[in-house]
Amino acid sequence: MTKIAFIGLGNMGGPMAQNLVKAGYEVCGFDLMPEALDQLEQAGGSRAESVTDAAQDASVVISMLPAGKHVEALYLGDEGLFNVIGSRCLVIDCSTIEADVAKKVGVKAEEQGIDFIDAPVSGGTAGAAAGTLTFMVGGSAETVERARPYLEVMGQNIFHAGGAGAGQLAKICNNMLLAVLMTGTSEALKLGIDNGLDPAVLSEIMNKSSGGNWVLEKYNPVPGVMPQAPASNGYQGGFMVGLMAKDLDLALNAAAGSKTATPMASLAENLYKMHSIRSGNTQDFSSIIQLYDPAD
Ligand code: NAD
Repeated sequence: MTKIAFIGLGNMGGPMAQNLVKAGYEVCGFDLMPEALDQLEQAGGSRAESVTDAAQDASVVISMLPAGKHVEALYLGDEGLFNVIGSRCLVIDCSTIEADVAKKVGVKAEEQGIDFIDAPVSGGTAGAAAGTLTFMVGGSAETVERARPYLEVMGQNIFHAGGAGAGQLAKICNNMLLAVLMTGTSEALKLGIDNGLDPAVLSEIMNKSSGGNWVLEKYNPVPGVMPQAPASNGYQGGFMVGLMAKDLDLALNAAAGSKTATPMASLAENLYKMHSIRSGNTQDFSSIIQLYDPAD
């Protein structure tokens, strides 16, 4: 049976790893949080004591870590996995990180005969649990085909965006737009609420009108409108404010490099910075709607 090492079992990685277990793969996970390892074990996977331990005899390594520095350390650090895994190993990094870091890891992998793709995702924690994520993949066509059976277990749409790092570029364009949509949708909902409209009714109207978008369809920021959305769960268990702030930084850095004007993203980044100063980094990013409330 194919053994998969899964590194990073958080809000996204946890359910993704569990879907691989359900599909019949032997999954050995590692995370810094013991509770995340408990959950994988309860789902039928096994726990490792270290990344090296997890990757022992694995023919596939999948990572889902917060940021580029974690991914770089995992693969290229002094005790990095590229010093440990065999040259026929397939490595899939699903974290959202700098395209340059993905390229750097990809170059090193190629030197060592390791097949590597950057494969960031969209679809949120609900998509991770349902196995309906969208993958945006960068790497060679051959490696994308080799990875496809695993990606198809965790996702529904698999796009080959281009060479190494292209998946990351597609992802930051998407999340830049998502930040703008979330802030704009929150603003429109707040205007309606402040003028006496029921947010559930207003959401339905806008979603069936020209303002319709993914936030209104799947991720309403007003508590109680969508029982399954993080807003109705105390803004817990979704995509944290700190991660959205990181993605906006990635987008603005890429825009600086290409001299692309991104005024909407700059405004969204400032709104998220203000929100983070006021309310911290660990709530779901839809909590940005709180910024439109009067200060306590
Ligand atoms: P998370 O913080 O819930 O999970 C990250 C996990 O990595 C944590 O459990 C943490 O303990 C673990 N970790 C950190 N360093 C580690 C290390 N050195 N070794 C092993 N484990 C380590 O974050 P998340 O929401 O699952 O997001 C993960 C990535 O996916 C991020 O890059 C994020 O931008 C991206 N993403 C998240 C969402 C979402 O809706 N949450 C959607 C799309 C993409």
